[in-house]
Amino acid sequence: MSEIQPRAALTLYDPFEGMQFSMHRCFLCGNPTTPPQDTVPVFADWLMTRYGLQERQIKLLDMSIVQYQHLRIACCPTCRTQHVEPLEARVEAAAQEGIRGFRQLDDQTLFLWLGKMFYGVLVTELLTEMDPLAKPQYPLAENAQLLRRFQAFYQPLQALRVPMEYEDFVPGSLFILEADPAQDEMPFEYDDDLSTIAFSIKLDETVLVACLVDNGIIRQAMGRVYQDAYRPLHPVQVAEFKARVYYAAYLLNVVPDYYPRPVKPGDVEVIMDTLIDDVTGDIFNPWENSAYAQSLLEMWKRWQIPLEEIVRNPAEPLTFLYDAGGQPRVIKHYPEANKAGNK
Ligand SMILES: [Zn+2]
Repeated sequence: MSEIQPRAALTLYDPFEGMQFSMHRCFLCGNPTTPPQDTVPVFADWLMTRYGLQERQIKLLDMSIVQYQHLRIACCPTCRTQHVEPLEARVEAAAQEGIRGFRQLDDQTLFLWLGKMFYGVLVTELLTEMDPLAKPQYPLAENAQLLRRFQAFYQPLQALRVPMEYEDFVPGSLFILEADPAQDEMPFEYDDDLSTIAFSIKLDETVLVACLVDNGIIRQAMGRVYQDAYRPLHPVQVAEFKARVYYAAYLLNVVPDYYPRPVKPGDVEVIMDTLIDDVTGDIFNPWENSAYAQSLLEMWKRWQIPLEEIVRNPAEPLTFLYDAGGQPRVIKHYPEANKAGNK
């Protein structure tokens, strides 16, 4: 019988302790790995195949360019075959069903799947920074507050390898939006804000937007907007929703602490507790319309909406999600047909 069994499997790992990031260490368990064979793609093969991403380019913080297919992180064979590949297979199967499939996935699966991609990009950035030739403008690894946030995020992410139950919390805010296929011409889109751990990926009509380290606070704060957005949205409305999430993540003033309970003999999973220390200040910094407008400007770049138009009413920046009476607005076309001439 297996006396020696689960203890080791329930041991957590912290790559931030001593900054152990490397292509020679599994990102999930820390065991030694040999590149290039012991790696997994940050964006799964099925995703790259489905959306033709292999040669598509992504710009890193130091302005260097990488192709999606070259974004890989170190992963030992055990973690790859037992944890990463099964997760990808689950999400791939759900993705076959479109947005309905995504809505049926449980919160933990979605968090882990988005978290794995985010973490892969983050580690790529950190490793690029360590390259003596790189000269990043804002080195992530030198910002203690940022590192603390990344380190916190990594705790619940370990559920990807270690059986783990989050005791009474969700680690992040997840939103599943539906882009109106009639108005939509972007099958795939990806963006992130590393410093706030905000993340968004679009797969056909499904748009996943998340802040991965807020214990669901943003989702709570945006409860009504999310409810009102539970319908096919014009892409310009999706972009506005993203601007709200990204800006809220920027205002978030707390970092959750996570506490794994000590593992006892016979335990089959780690129970993770959390605490948000908000004694020292507010959960959110004050909302400022001028800063929010910048976030809108960025997200609406595709439509080239000028800042003057966004802040025409400084007290209420432009919105496409709501009409003047505060009711959810339906947008079939943007820019809207010329009122004078067209029907
Ligand atoms: Zn491993």
